[in-house]
Amino acid sequence: MSKEIPVKQVDPGSDPSNNKKQTETVDLYASRKKIYVKEIKGFFQRIRNVSLMVLMGMYFLFVWLTLDGQPLIHFDLPEREFHLYGMTFFPKDFFLLSGMLIISAFGLFFITTLFGRVWCGYTCPQTVWTFVYMWIEEKVEGSRNKRMKLDKSPNTREKITKKGIKHALWLLVALATGLTFVGYFYPIRELIGDIATLDANGWAYFWVGFFTVATYLNAGWMREQVCLYMCPYARFQSVMFDPNTRIVSYDPNRGEPRGKRKKGIDPAQVGLGDCIDCEQCVQVCPTGIDIRDGLQYECIGCALCIDACDQVMDKMDYPRGLIRYTTENELEGKTSKLLRPRTFGYGAVLTAMIGAVIFIVASRVPAQMDVLRDRGALYSFNGEGRIENSYTVKIQNMSEVPQTFVLSVEGLEDMRIITDTTVKVVSGENRSLPTVVDVPPESIQSTNSDIRFIATSQTDSSLILETESRFVGPRAR
Ligand code: SF4
Ligand code: SF4
Repeated sequence: MSKEIPVKQVDPGSDPSNNKKQTETVDLYASRKKIYVKEIKGFFQRIRNVSLMVLMGMYFLFVWLTLDGQPLIHFDLPEREFHLYGMTFFPKDFFLLSGMLIISAFGLFFITTLFGRVWCGYTCPQTVWTFVYMWIEEKVEGSRNKRMKLDKSPNTREKITKKGIKHALWLLVALATGLTFVGYFYPIRELIGDIATLDANGWAYFWVGFFTVATYLNAGWMREQVCLYMCPYARFQSVMFDPNTRIVSYDPNRGEPRGKRKKGIDPAQVGLGDCIDCEQCVQVCPTGIDIRDGLQYECIGCALCIDACDQVMDKMDYPRGLIRYTTENELEGKTSKLLRPRTFGYGAVLTAMIGAVIFIVASRVPAQMDVLRDRGALYSFNGEGRIENSYTVKIQNMSEVPQTFVLSVEGLEDMRIITDTTVKVVSGENRSLPTVVDVPPESIQSTNSDIRFIATSQTDSSLILETESRFVGPRAR
């Protein structure tokens, strides 16, 4: 089937009767050209290496850590509990998750407004894993030129061995990534043991396989395609840019007209700018673009072109910074403002949301009690001639340790609980306890009295739960 769609080039000023002649076919499908990224060392690459090691270290390590016997981070879906840094969250805490998502979104907007796509360039998992895969590729297959030569060469034993080792290492990293990801939902020690003995449930195999394949394809094969065609953030981030946003830019005032020349020649004397048109900035770019063409949505802000160009400038004895983090205003000789209405706006929402989430987390109680009065019967007299009311006491333990509570009730004279008063609630449990309360008839002053249930923890003496309820009795005589 043809991949070409006939399109008509229309010149607004042309005679419409000539449009027939202007009809031509344009290929709207562009197959991917493999990008051979040249390895470069430099200041920004060192920053990324540190961020890469910290982030990957956290990802692979945190899944193994425990705090007071509980996993540091564990999303226990069957039990509907989420353990995070010593706290347990339940489905009713999901508004906190919404708060965290809003914080992440506004944090991203705030940073993007100030410094462009630093998230994409230094911390996005797609970038982090792609750089690890590129590092493996460089170590196994060699430099950019060697890799290009290898790909063009026939399938010799050496080529097949190198490709085999590279893909095996990629798959190993992908498998470790998949296992770790699933380990945040299925305790990692059990997961590895169960998979090794083929005892894991089917979903565990499915998700480990899914994340292994996704990592291998995204970081090994698709790379910049994920950023260019799959990531929605790449599409809308430019609306957060303004002339004061500090982004990776080429300085055309200084660089143009570009042209080759020998070292030691004063560019002004030969009518050239500082760009020697060496294309080093293009060869190191993981998305294969030329930063000299201006701001492009393909640019992930990785700053590799800054490191490459700075090395060229050093060799030519020119000042660094032909490509640098700068703003549109500075390139036009104007001054830039760090603080402006949109940074204040994003910053204000961000600060408010962080404050709200911290307040909610800090004021979270480790347990809560609800009391439901049995609506089936208003009251009854027991064998001792006392008036009884029935309740269901529900205690939810949201702390990380089991709690034993002793129940009591107050509000009417000589009031007592005649059912079990000691209740043990394990971490994360929501325990219901049928409870009967009685009072002597002479204590009743009205048909409907305010009473209070109190649950005192034997495990943590500072933990006392109180809940109001009603006691219904006959009219006082
Ligand atoms: S690396 Fe610098 S000097 Fe070389 S082409 Fe790019 S901008 Fe010009
Ligand atoms: S132009 Fe390429 S190398 Fe430079 S910051 Fe953008 S993505 Fe990175």
